Amino acid sequence: MLIFIHKFVSWFFCLIFPLYSWASLPEYKTDVVVLGGGIGGLTAAIYLARGGIPPLVIEGKVPGGAIIQSKKVQNWPGDIEISGFDLIEKIRMQAEKNGAILSHEEMVSIDLSSRPFSIIVQDVYDSTKQRKIIADACIIAMGTKTQLLGAIGEKKYESQGVYTCAVCDGPLYRDKIVSVVGGGDASVLEADYLSGIAKKVYVLVRGSQLKGIEATRKENLFKKENVEILYNTEIVEIKGSDSAVEKIVIQNKAMDQRELDVDAVFLAIGAIPNTQLLEGQIELDDKGYIIHKNNLETSVSGVFAVGDVTDPVFKQAISAGGEGAKAAIQAQSYLSSHKKRPTPKFVEQRPQYPVGQVIEINSLNQLQEIFKSSQIPIIVDFYATWCSPCRYLSPFIDTWAKELQDKVLVCKVNIDTARDVAGLYNIRSMPTVVHMDAQGREITRKVGPQEIIKHVNSLK
Ligand SMILES: Cc1cc2nc3c(=O)[nH]c(=O)nc-3n(C[C@H](O)[C@H](O)[C@H](O)COP(=O)(O)OP(=O)(O)OC[C@H]3O[C@@H](n4cnc5c(N)ncnc54)[C@H](O)[C@@H]3O)c2cc1C
Repeated sequence: MLIFIHKFVSWFFCLIFPLYSWASLPEYKTDVVVLGGGIGGLTAAIYLARGGIPPLVIEGKVPGGAIIQSKKVQNWPGDIEISGFDLIEKIRMQAEKNGAILSHEEMVSIDLSSRPFSIIVQDVYDSTKQRKIIADACIIAMGTKTQLLGAIGEKKYESQGVYTCAVCDGPLYRDKIVSVVGGGDASVLEADYLSGIAKKVYVLVRGSQLKGIEATRKENLFKKENVEILYNTEIVEIKGSDSAVEKIVIQNKAMDQRELDVDAVFLAIGAIPNTQLLEGQIELDDKGYIIHKNNLETSVSGVFAVGDVTDPVFKQAISAGGEGAKAAIQAQSYLSSHKKRPTPKFVEQRPQYPVGQVIEINSLNQLQEIFKSSQIPIIVDFYATWCSPCRYLSPFIDTWAKELQDKVLVCKVNIDTARDVAGLYNIRSMPTVVHMDAQGREITRKVGPQEIIKHVNSLK
């Protein structure tokens, strides 16, 4: 009897309950869903929208994708140099202006075995908010995530000294000693960025040379006095206290081991395609990259794949964009040869902010939402709970939110919890107030209570 009850309970939760909850989710029908909000997905969205098929773009946890980690993109045609964030903002705006619907949700499961396709997505901030997307065609542009080393201690210190994004977490290591692991372009870029912040940067390269293709960047790195490149070297172990990295054990080709004092390890050793949720649904290669069958089409007709998620070799913004454009045109012709369903009209929900109160920004997404909906300039106070000048400034910030409610939107960012935002604005001292126009373009920044008070008083 007990076995029977046990079996029934497991059947209920494994089979019947998921079916029931899938069936009860709110549904949204669209011609094309784009999975991924990086350059590949957004370019596909622009082309589709301009072709009269405004797609729903599920942006995932990183709207804008990998390129937002780059402070200086120097190979995007038309811009001698542009930050990844600014580049993406332009592309996102272009996609939205043309009618694409960008959504802060991520795909959690997908069924490509029957048509139309069904995709379950959930709000990136609230996993209880799920819905079912029904789509006739699908463009997958979910990029990659950084590979881990597998060294002892790596898991323990993940996000507490072991990171995969220097621009996001590097500012926490001002005047400290850091190491970058990897020998490709990403490693050169991360080391270059960190050399402007940290006291010392060790670059640990497994082989005998840096393999990156960007020669100018490599040469610039060699000239930096605080950068030391250790070739033929691997990390064996990461050591430290309960919550912080203090040392790494490294080993060279001659099998000599030694310890280096470092406060953080930044990994740039390659990528794993974000295709775990697609296993068994479409054909993948042995490393998990999506295989193309007919131009940009995958093994499932009507499902296209673009950018890094299909690209073990080149991984460039421009190639992701180019594929996005091609896949959109292919999807359009696929749809024209299949029955088209009308696209439901999208009513955009603009967030309503409490007037006269300071808005606490917890993520880049939230800040981007504010840029979209704010009609007035914005000042953002970057603070930390352990910073006493910040505590001194805090009551002023509250007062300004009330006094200036018609003139500026007052926001604050805790640099320890919203690291992506602090990293993006390259916050080096606290408190810092960044004053931006309504579109998020920086007008000025002031550091320290006196300078900040003087500046904000001048706005009254
Ligand atoms: C530090 C760094 C610097 C770089 N600098 C340059 C450069 O200077 N020039 C250059 O050409 N290239 C550069 N690149 C490479 C470039 O960023 C990538 O080639 C490009 O971003 C690939 O675009 P993509 O759209 O394929 O994927 P990505 O940009 O990786 O976007 C993937 C998208 O998929 C979303 N996603 C993931 N999982 C899900 C899910 N389950 N559901 C929904 N969405 C999901 C993510 O949120 C993200 O929006 C750099 C990369 C890095 C990491």
